[in-house]
Amino acid sequence: MPTKRIKCIVCNRTFFEGQGVKLVLGGKELYFHSKSCALKFVKSMVLYLDQKDLEKAVTSTLKEFEQRLQELEERSKKRIEAIH
Ligand SMILES: [Zn+2]
Repeated sequence: MPTKRIKCIVCNRTFFEGQGVKLVLGGKELYFHSKSCALKFVKSMVLYLDQKDLEKAVTSTLKEFEQRLQELEERSKKRIEAIH
């Protein structure tokens, strides 16, 4: 089966399906050849968002990752306790 050639929408470099980064945003499938191109796109996109919505989104995302870190910390604490 021939692999599809895809163009990075940020830098125009071509790559093959399965490589690169795919993001689904706003109902659109977006393809980037690398994480740095995806980040560049997201950074620009954020500027077009409503600042109030953006504030809420940042707060929610921060909370999500803080929770994740806390869970990881607790898990490693338990692991250390189990060793002793
Ligand atoms: Zn690119």
